[in-house]
Formats: sequence, C-alpha cells, structure tokens
Amino acid sequence: MTTLVDTRPSKVMANPGHGDAFTDHMVTAHWTRADGWTVPQLGPLVNLSMHPGMIGLHYAQVVFEGLKAFVQADGSIAAFRPRDNAARFARSAARLAMPEVPASMFLSAVEEVVRADADWLLDNPQHTLYLRPLLYASEAQLMLRASNEYTFLMMAFLAGGFFGDQVDPVSVLVSRDFTRAVPGGTGNVKCAANYGPSLLAQRQAQEAGCQQVVWLDAAEHRFIEEMGGMNLFFVRGSGADARLVTPELTGTLLPGMTRNSLLTIAAREGYAVSEERITVDEWRDQCLSGAITETFACGTAAVVTPVGRVRDRDGDFMIGTGTMGAVTRRLRAALLDVQHGRTADPAGWLHPITI
Ligand SMILES: *Cc1c(COP(=O)(O)O)cnc(C)c1O
Repeated sequence: MTTLVDTRPSKVMANPGHGDAFTDHMVTAHWTRADGWTVPQLGPLVNLSMHPGMIGLHYAQVVFEGLKAFVQADGSIAAFRPRDNAARFARSAARLAMPEVPASMFLSAVEEVVRADADWLLDNPQHTLYLRPLLYASEAQLMLRASNEYTFLMMAFLAGGFFGDQVDPVSVLVSRDFTRAVPGGTGNVKCAANYGPSLLAQRQAQEAGCQQVVWLDAAEHRFIEEMGGMNLFFVRGSGADARLVTPELTGTLLPGMTRNSLLTIAAREGYAVSEERITVDEWRDQCLSGAITETFACGTAAVVTPVGRVRDRDGDFMIGTGTMGAVTRRLRAALLDVQHGRTADPAGWLHPITI
C-alpha cells in the first residue's frame, strides 16, 4: 500500500469534504445489445468522451449507487454490504429498462478500485472510500426509446471521517411546494432523474434557514417519507423503553441500506422497532408532548445525523432539546463499530478486500 510518488493533494487528505476528493482510478465496461458486457477494465480516472446526442444526457436513462469501504480494526479494508448494493443497482437498472450489471462484475469492480486506491486511506483510518457505481445510456440517438448501448463506471472519492460525538444536528424544512416521488414513479430506485428536481426544494430549505428538506407523500401531503437523500427514524420514549419507528417502504421511499442495517442493529441492541406510516402532524404533536424524543436521518454518506429543529408552514418545533439524543448516539456508534470491524458481524455485511 505504499506509493513512491504521492499524487494525493495534502489539503484534500487533511479535509476530504464529501464528493470531490476523487481517487486515481476507475473501472469501465461497455454493453451492446449484440455482444453484452465487455471485460471491465481498471484504468486512470479520466474525462469521458461522449457524443452530444447520447441518450443518457437527454432522457436521463442513468442509475447509480453509493457504498463505502472502511478501514477495519486490524488495518485491513472491507466494503459494507456490496452484494446488497449490487442487487439494488440491478433493480434500478431494470426499472429504467437498462441491462443489469451482474453482481459478480459489480463486486469485482468494487474490489479493483479499492485495491488500486487503498493508499488514499493510509493517512486516517476514520476516512472511508465512497464508491460510486454509475450506469448510463451511451448510444447517440434522440428518438425516445431505450438505448442499445450502455456504459458502466465504478469510481471513488475519499470521504471524511465521522468522529465520536461531534455531529451537529440539522434543521429541516418540510417541503409543501414539491414532492420527491409519486406512486408508480421511481422513488424506490436510485436513478439520476430523481435528484435534479429535488435541488430547488433544497434551495428553499436553505433560504428558510434550514439545512435539509423533508419530503411528504405525493397523494395526501401528510405522511413523512424521507429527508433529502436519507431515510428517517423517530424515537418514542427513552432509555430501555425507547422504541424506533421508520416510515414503511410504500414504494415512494428509497430502501436505504443504512435504514435496513439500523433496523437490524436496533433490534439487536434490544429496542423495539417498527415500520409505519407517520404524519407530519403526529411528528409535531408528539415532539411537543414529549412522546417523540429523537429523530435522525441515515444514509451511506453521513451515516446517522440527528435532526434538531423542524420548520413547517405554521412554525417551528424542536425535537427533544435539539441536540443528539442518547438512542441516536448509541445506534450511530453501533453501526460504525460494525462497519469498521470493531464488533461482531453476525449478518456477514463486511466484504473483506485483500490489498
Ligand atoms: C441513497 C438514498 C438513501 C440512503 O440509502 P443508503 O443505502 O442507506 O445509502 C435514502 N434516500 C434516498 C432518496 C437515496 O437516494
């Protein structure tokens, strides 16, 4: 894992941020209707050359994934639940009438990029490699139909560590003007077309002095679905009696791997967990009465992030004292312990990568 010439910018290494500290390599493969997939090739991360009439650019026949590789307690490296990401990637592709990337090909690409760029993790074992698989329609064709050619890329960027207790709660705006996902739409898959339209709501949240947007269901505008690109959990009660609730997967929510992992980990930690529909009125009333003591968002990028304050059309309300609660803190630590190999992994979520 040693490099003779260190190409990594030291400023980036000290504070990688989230999303632009791209590493040096990527894996590329091409698919055509006649020949299927080419053998994936590891090469340097370089600019792409594409036809301006490429279907992916015009009609958003594009899907992606997000997963991480973590430095383990023993210094080795493991990816977290890559098989599950491969399966979700395949479901996303099928929803957009795209060919699936076989799980074995997905896993090999994860391993190759991590192996090639493992030295990015040398400086700080808290840092992670965020892997970004991408599949897009690469045929030049402007008739509205599914592409006959596709490109698969696996790239990575260095993501900052998330230290101990230093996680600031976020404030959120309940979006009343926009919806993220509609029944029968694509809210339950990771297609690029879901994200561009969410940015205006995100800007509104910022203009209202909030950091993130909370999405309600499209039909009744009552049921809480997600926060930005993360799933939500609510804690009722406290201490040993705390119960966790997360919005059920109605088809308009993205089934997060972190959400799924936390449901398992919370049950293992002895908490009662349930998947239910919960309205924004219940959220407010139960925060005011003290029945809901904590709320947090979860996703691969930011792991577990507490929500401290909510802004809605008729005013603000606080969640608990507006700081990170005990249950949130405990689950966050438990998840990071599994991801970094500091505790047992009974579900076999870690995929070791030999360097
Ligand atoms: C990716 C994503 C999540 C979180 O999924 P993870 O697998 O936990 O990273 C949640 N909501 C949306 C809309 C997403 O795109």
